[in-house]
Amino acid sequence: LKAMEENNQKQRAAHCLIFPYPIQGHINPMLQFSKRLQQKGVKITLAVTKHLSKTTEFKSETISLETFSDGFDDGVPPGYDVETYLNTFREVGTRTLKETLQVMSDSGRPVDCVIYDPFLPWGLDVAKELGLYGAAFFTQSCAVDLIYHRVFTGELKVPLPDPESEILIPGLPPLKMEDMPSFISVHGSYPPIFEIVVDQFRGMEKADWLFFNTFYMLEEEVIEYMAKSSPVKTIGPTIPSMYLDKRLPDDKEYGLSVYKPNTAACMDWLNERQPDSVLYISFGSLAQLGNGQMEELAWGLKLSNKHFLWVVRSSEESKMPSNFLQETSDKGLIVSWCPQLDVLAHEAICCFITHCGWNSTLEALSMGVPMVAMPQWTDQSTNSKFVMDVWKMGIKAQKDEKGIVRRETIDRCIREVMEGEKGEEIKKNALKWKELARESMCEGGSSDKNIEEFVASLGSNSL
Ligand code: UDP
Repeated sequence: LKAMEENNQKQRAAHCLIFPYPIQGHINPMLQFSKRLQQKGVKITLAVTKHLSKTTEFKSETISLETFSDGFDDGVPPGYDVETYLNTFREVGTRTLKETLQVMSDSGRPVDCVIYDPFLPWGLDVAKELGLYGAAFFTQSCAVDLIYHRVFTGELKVPLPDPESEILIPGLPPLKMEDMPSFISVHGSYPPIFEIVVDQFRGMEKADWLFFNTFYMLEEEVIEYMAKSSPVKTIGPTIPSMYLDKRLPDDKEYGLSVYKPNTAACMDWLNERQPDSVLYISFGSLAQLGNGQMEELAWGLKLSNKHFLWVVRSSEESKMPSNFLQETSDKGLIVSWCPQLDVLAHEAICCFITHCGWNSTLEALSMGVPMVAMPQWTDQSTNSKFVMDVWKMGIKAQKDEKGIVRRETIDRCIREVMEGEKGEEIKKNALKWKELARESMCEGGSSDKNIEEFVASLGSNSL
């Protein structure tokens, strides 16, 4: 009987539980990573809060879904304080995640490894308490994580003593204050979120693997520096295979979308446009623009005289200048959410005006789409610095003394990205990054090798 049991054990596929912070920008990359693991024979279960599972639709034929409680099964009441929410999430989540894992084990679906989001570092505590492997999945760039790590260790003191001088961090180019994540450059902004990003490294030494959604060539210097002290594994970009290495079957339907995309409207409209003629504008799932900025952006688009596809989430709609839609109806399409990857991959798109969220940045790089960067907060300013000065794949639009990017600046940046020698160089670089992103995910590429290695060690260690 024992021999049979051992044999059964050997035949069981390794099983990972994926545990993202419940926002779109964390769910997407962790689900795409899951897909890669699954293709290499790993069984995957996605764990989400009960409220998220009730309010969204998870589409996958092969990945199982488990729910646990964050203490707010009917949603967080409006105006609820973020800090209190996070504390409750930790307290309730620690207990309910553990229960979920125990039930899975008791019902013959034991988990070998919890792939946790370091925004929820207690996911690792739960894994370790149950004697499971724990792997961190960092959803931001290595550069940004290194900055936060230095705050965590106390090597970077916030507020910075001299806001005027350059900030020198090994592995990174010299940075100005405006290039730092907003929690550092605007000290005291969003204290609970600053705490989350710094706390990501708590207990990290107990993690068995550290995954980063980036690729070696993109952040070579910082990765080499970090690798001296931590076993950094790059596994990105976590873009669906159909846009990169094309080794996995197409499945556009796969995923969990907090917002519903207006797919047909966007794609039909794009199909009518000329190649390389449309601006795509999106500020991701969270950023809120001020009324003044929204107005300048709108009139900047009109000034550019180009066609545009602009994502304005319904919560942002009221900020649109009242006569703008009428005045630009022959030029633009405004939607509340779009299938961003299909849009970026469309031949009509020539430039992406972006907030430089890390996913959007990686997606534009991987599709070879030049960017005009308009960072709003969190890591976006650091990402935009790299887009402009390191990867040379776009231009950062400068704010005026009131902190607003004016319409003339937006128009000028669009032209710079599209025209002249600079435009040519940006386009050349865009194609270079597109190719390097693809290579990293192809068989034997740097990220593919790391994923392969993880799956092999998971198999040999746990089974
Ligand atoms: N996204 C999308 N449709 C949209 C706007 C955004 O599918 O209309 C996706 C985008 O492809 C990316 C994610 O939402 O994967 C946004 O993540 P990002 O890190 O760029 O920004 P965040 O929302 O976290 O600020």
